[in-house]
Order: sequence, then structure tokens, then C-alpha cells
Amino acid sequence: MRFSEVIGQKKIKEKFIQTVREERVSHAQLLSGEEGFGGLPLAIAFSQFILCEDRKENDSCGECPSCQKTSKLIHPDLHFVFPVTVTKTNSKPVSDDFITEWREALIEDPYLSTNRWYNYLGLENKQGMIYTHESENIIKKLSLKTFEAEYKVMVIWQPERMNPTCSNKLLKIIEEPPPKTLFLMVSLLPEQILPTLLSRVQRINIPGIETDILVDFLQNRHDLPLGELRKVAKLANGSITRAIEFIISVDDYNTIFTLFKKWMRLCYKNNILGILEWVDEVSSLGREKKKLFLIYSLRMIRENFLLNSMPNYRDRLVRLSENEEDFSNKFFPFIHKKNIFRLTEEINKTISDIEANAYSKTVFLDLSFQVMGLIKN
Ligand SMILES: [Zn+2]
Repeated sequence: MRFSEVIGQKKIKEKFIQTVREERVSHAQLLSGEEGFGGLPLAIAFSQFILCEDRKENDSCGECPSCQKTSKLIHPDLHFVFPVTVTKTNSKPVSDDFITEWREALIEDPYLSTNRWYNYLGLENKQGMIYTHESENIIKKLSLKTFEAEYKVMVIWQPERMNPTCSNKLLKIIEEPPPKTLFLMVSLLPEQILPTLLSRVQRINIPGIETDILVDFLQNRHDLPLGELRKVAKLANGSITRAIEFIISVDDYNTIFTLFKKWMRLCYKNNILGILEWVDEVSSLGREKKKLFLIYSLRMIRENFLLNSMPNYRDRLVRLSENEEDFSNKFFPFIHKKNIFRLTEEINKTISDIEANAYSKTVFLDLSFQVMGLIKN
């Protein structure tokens, strides 16, 4: 992975490049940031830059034998440690036992989320661990000579999942590492790392990815209206993982469109019993899906307002699928300049409530009562 393939994070990349240029690469660094900010891809791109045989000014070459091996995660001087799990046949697992799965997962998605990794490991409702005996493995690997490159790089993903005995055993080698050794730790929860370990590393805080950059990224992958992508990017709050989760898959889309149609019909008919059932249905969705539903509702209301207020411009302004258009042709007269503002405001308020973990049945019921009153006028 080259720096150019890491989304955003210009400043961090520049910092890494500068330390290499000035030959003052700190031998133990801790990159911390939320899931989806890019800690892991940055660590890999930095490793590739360090190991590259034909380094360019601002990036690895991407072509030399070293870059080719790094991109397949098989460079002999690039080592990985990550949370693993005991299995029926392996009571003392180390990262190397799962290296095939790790390479597969990471090549598929360098922004690998913890959940996704745990799925690879077959873990349900359990967390992975970096066990005590991993430390022996690390020390052994680092005491070997480098195979091909100048540096040996040890990427440790989620050092917070490290057993304390393991952390303690590593203190010495982190403080006095063999020459040309680089520890790159990537943490999601640095406050859970042992203070003795934390005090021995240089900390780098990875900020969230800028919203505009997230929008660009999403736009290249998804054929959704720009307004919707902006909303998704904003809600994702700097995280590529969250942004992707927010994007509607086809199944989700059908569920959400059906829910919206049903909701509007029930509100129009003042069908309280139906609304109560609908509230149960929408509340059974996960938190992110609820937000997705509300974002979708905002979009539909906006499009219908445009249909109503600017009928002559519908081809130019309105972006609806065939199904949505069928429904909207009957629905648009109910969305007008007297209620658009309040409707949008109420839905936005519900999004904030859901984000703040409010009890969803209550907020959806309240919202439905508001919508009922508003589309009547
Ligand atoms: Zn190269």
C-alpha cells in the first residue's frame, strides 16, 4: 500500500516522510485514532515507504521487489502482531498462526474493522487477545538479522488487547531495540494500554478524515445523490468504516423505501394503531439503520418538496428512482413550503436523539405524531 492509496491524512503522511528524509525515525511509535480513520493503512504505507528500494520523494515506488512483497504483506522484514483467539486445536495461539487470514482480510480491506477481523476469526461476542507467549515470538523475530531490507518493521495492531504479562516482557526490547528496528503500534483505545508501555512510545494522534475527502471517496464508489453522500460523510465523523456502513445496500434500500411509504400512509390516515406497529418495526432496526432511514426520509421529503414547488424543473432537479417516482406522484402535494421546514427540523432532531442513544420507540412515536399533524395542514 502506498501513501497515495491512504484516504486523506495529508499531514500525517508528510510527517512520516519528513522523519525518513531527516533520518530521525523514532523507533517506537503509537498511532492512535478511531476505527476507520486509517491508522492501519498508514502504518502499512509507512512500512512500505521505509522498506522500498527505490523510494520516491513523497511515496514508495510501488514497483520494486520490496514494494511488491509489502503489498502482498509477505515481506520477510515486515512482521505483524494482532489479536487472535484460542481454538479447539490451538491453545497457545500467536499471530503467525492466523497470518493467512490476516493477509486475506487486510488485502481485501486495509481499513479492516475489529468486527470484520473477529468474523474472520470466527469470534462471536468474544474479543481477540494478544497472548503472553506472543512476546517470545516478537523478541525472537527481532533478534534475527534483517533478511532483505535495512529495517525490520513490527506492526502491532491493537496493543490494548495485549495481555499485561506480554506487554511487560516487551518493555525492554522496546526501550533498547536491536538497531534498525521499528515498532509501529496502531491503537483504537490508547487509554487501555499499560502506562509503562505507553511511556516508551512516541504518540501520533490520527485525526478523522476530512468530510470533503470522504465525500470524494464515496462519490467514486457509489451512485447516490451528492446531497445524500454529504450527509453520510458528515455523520460518519471522519471514519471510512462508518461511512461505508451508512451507504445503503440494495436490500437495505428496499426495506427503507417500504418503511417510508408505509409510514407516510399511516400518518396521512391518522392510523394510530398502525403507527404503533410501525414504530415497533422501525425500532427493531440497528442504530445505524435507523439513522439511515431518517436520512433517507429527509431526502424523500426534500425531493417531494421540489416536485411540488418547482414542477417545471422536475427533470433537472428531482432525482428519484422509478419506484420512488410512482409513490411521489401521489405524495408530493402534501409537502409544501408551510411544512417542509418543520418536517426537516423534526427529523434532524430525531437523528440527534438516536445518536445520543435515546429510547427509540419514544422518539419515533413522537416524530410520527408531529408528522401526522404537519402533513395534514
Ligand atoms: Zn519500492
